Amino acid sequence: MPKKRIAVTGGAGFLGSHLCERLINDGHEVVCLDNFFTGTRRNIERLLDNHNFELVRHDVVQPIVIEVDQIYHLACPASPVHYQRNPVRTIRTAVQGTLNMLDMAREVRARILIASTSEVYGDPKEHPQRETYWGHVNPTGPRACYDEGKRCAESLTVSYKQQYGVETRIARIFNTYGPRMHPNDGRVVSNFIVQALRNDPITVYGDGQQTRSFCYVTDLVEAFIRLMNTESDPGPTNLGNPRELTVLELAKMTIELTRSSSTLVREPLPADDPVRRKPDISKAEEVIKWRPTVSIEEGIEKTIAYFKSVEI
Ligand code: NAD
Ligand code: UDP
Repeated sequence: MPKKRIAVTGGAGFLGSHLCERLINDGHEVVCLDNFFTGTRRNIERLLDNHNFELVRHDVVQPIVIEVDQIYHLACPASPVHYQRNPVRTIRTAVQGTLNMLDMAREVRARILIASTSEVYGDPKEHPQRETYWGHVNPTGPRACYDEGKRCAESLTVSYKQQYGVETRIARIFNTYGPRMHPNDGRVVSNFIVQALRNDPITVYGDGQQTRSFCYVTDLVEAFIRLMNTESDPGPTNLGNPRELTVLELAKMTIELTRSSSTLVREPLPADDPVRRKPDISKAEEVIKWRPTVSIEEGIEKTIAYFKSVEI
C-alpha cells in the first residue's frame, strides 16, 4: 500500500498504541492524538523517536484540523470503571469528539473509521449479535453515557456520509484484550490476570454465568486495517472473536495458566451488565476476509507474560 499520513485518536491507549505501531511498521506516517485520560506515554514510548511518528496532546472535544489521508477515531475511555467515573465527559467525548473528527475528515477529505462497540446492542435479546440487530439499551442506566454516546457517534457518522459524502467506516468492537491494558483498568481480563499473579482473590461479579467473547488485540488491529481499506463502506461491521466464554470459565482458565493459588470471590453484579455477548462475524468474514487467528489460551498466555514484565 502506498505510504499514507494517518491520524489515530486515542493512540496512546491500549488498542490505539498497537494500531500506531502496526501502521508505522507498515511504512506509514502516524499522527497520534491523545489527552492521556486513560492512555500513557509509556504505551507509545518506543515510537517517540521514529521520524514517521508524531504525538499531539489534544482533547478531541476541542476542534482540530490536521492534513491526513485517513483517521482512526478511537479516543474514548472504554472500561466501565473509567467511562462511568465522569459520565458527562464520556458523552462529550463520544459525541462532540466524534463530531470534531468528522468535521476534520470532511475538511481534509480523509477517510474516517469510528471505533464503535458491541455496547450498541446493550443487554442483547438476540444471540449471537448481528449488525442488523437494533439493540436493547437502557438510555438512563449507568452504562448509558457510553452506550448512547457510541450510538450517537454511529448516527453522526452515517449522517456525515449521507449529507457531506465523507468516506466512513464503523467498527463495532467486541471485548478485546492483550498487552498494554492498564493494570487498574477494571476490565475483566486485566483484573483477573493481575489478581492471579498477586495470588489475590479473583473477583467474579454475580454468578459468573454471564458470557463475553474475547478477541486478541493483534487480530483486531488487522481487522481495523482491512475495514479501513475496503473499497466501499460495508456499514457497521462487527469485529471480535466468536468464541464465547462464561466469566467463571475465564476465571478458572486464568488461575490455571498463571498457576496461581488464588481463590474465587463473588461480588455484586453491576447494574445492566449484559448477560450474553457473542458477535456474528459473517459480514467481516465476507467483506474483509477476516477472522481471528489467536486462540484465547494463546492470547491469555501472551497477556500474562506482559503483566509479568511490568510493575503491577
Ligand atoms: P483505552 O482507554 O486504553 O484507550 C482510549 C484512549 O483514548 C486513551 O489513550 C485515552 O487517553 C484517550 N482519550 C480518552 N478521551 C479522550 C479525549 N477526549 N481526547 C483525546 N484522547 C482521549 O481504551 P481502548 O480499549 O484502547 O479503546 C479504544 C477505543 O475502542 C474506544 O473508543 C473504545 O470505546 C473502543 N472499544 C474498545 C473495546 C475493547 O474491548 N478494548 C471494545 C469496544 C470498543
Ligand atoms: N467482571 C467480573 N470481575 C471483574 C471485572 C469484570 O466478573 O473483576 C465481569 C463483568 O461483570 C462483565 C464481564 O466480566 O460481566 C466483562 O466486564 P468488562 O468490564 O471487562 O467489560 P464489559 O463487557 O462489561 O464492558
